[in-house]
Amino acid sequence: MTQMIVDQDSGLHYIKGKFLGKGGFAECYEIINCKTNETVAAKIISKHLLMKDDLKEKISQEIAIHKTLDHKNIVKFRYYFEDDENIYILLELCENKSLVELQKEKKRITESQCRIIMRQIVDAVKYLHKNGIIHRDLKLSNVLLGENYEVKVSDFGLATLVDLVGDKKRAICGTPNYISPEMLSKKGHSYEVDAWSLGCIMYTLLVGSPPFETSSIEQTYSRIARNAYCLPTGLSSSAKNLITNLLNPDPSKRIKIKNIEKHEFFTNGIIVLCIFSALTTKLDNID
Ligand code: ADP
Repeated sequence: MTQMIVDQDSGLHYIKGKFLGKGGFAECYEIINCKTNETVAAKIISKHLLMKDDLKEKISQEIAIHKTLDHKNIVKFRYYFEDDENIYILLELCENKSLVELQKEKKRITESQCRIIMRQIVDAVKYLHKNGIIHRDLKLSNVLLGENYEVKVSDFGLATLVDLVGDKKRAICGTPNYISPEMLSKKGHSYEVDAWSLGCIMYTLLVGSPPFETSSIEQTYSRIARNAYCLPTGLSSSAKNLITNLLNPDPSKRIKIKNIEKHEFFTNGIIVLCIFSALTTKLDNID
C-alpha cells in the first residue's frame, strides 16, 4: 500500500518510498514530491522520542545549523515539517549510500582512492570551520556518496557553533563515534576534534578497521587516552605521516584543517585528483 505523507502547512503530498538507513534516532526513506516528482531523502524522527528534552534540543540545533549550509560536499538541507507523529527533515538524496557500505564492500581502499575521498571531506570541514561550525561526529556513516560518488558530509546532530575565537566547548549532548582525547578528558575542545576524526576515517579506510578499536568501550577509551594505535608497514610514508599528524593527542600540535591539503599525501597525488575531477570517474576506475 502506498504511504502518503502530507505537509499540512504547504499542502504538499509525498509518497514514502525505499528505506535508506537507520541512525541513532532517525529512520531515513526516499520520498517523492507528488507535485514535482522529485525524489529526496527524508530523515523521519518519531515525536515519541522527543519527550526527552535533550533530543528536542539536539534536533532544533541540527536543523538550525544544517539549513544555513551551502557547499558541494555537504548534503543539502531542503525543507523541514512535522505532522502529529513525526518530524521530517528533507535532504538531498545521496544515491550511493555511505563510506560504511563502501568500506564493507572493499575492506580497504587504495591510497589514491582515499586521497579523493579525504580531499572532499577536508573541503567540507574547511567550509564548516570558516563558518564557525564544528561537526564533532565525523565518521564513515556520516559521509554519504552522491550520484557520481562525490562526497557529501551529513548529520549535524552533534554540531556546534563557536561563538568566540578561542572559546572552548565543554558540553556535548551525545557521544561521538571517533571521540578525541580532549573530549574524553573533558578539558574543553574546539575545531581540532574534527581533524582527529578525519585521522580515524583515513586510518579506517586504508587499514580496514578503526585505529583504537577493541571489544569494549572502556578499553577503546583507554587506548585513545594513551594514543595507542599501530600503523601497518604497508602504508606509504606520506600516509603514515598524515595519520600521525591528525591523531596527535595534543590538539594544539595536531595538523590544522587548512594545512591538510598542503600535506605531501595530497600534493604527491595531484595528477590523479585532476583526472578524477575532470571525468568524475567512479572510484573503481582508480587504482
Ligand atoms: P541519525 O541522526 O539518527 O544518526 P542519520 O543522519 O545518520 O541518522 O541517517 C541514518 C542513515 O540514513 C544513514 O546512515 C544513511 O544510511 C541514511 N541517510 C541519511 N541521510 C541520507 C541521504 N541524504 N541520502 C541517502 N541516505 C541517507
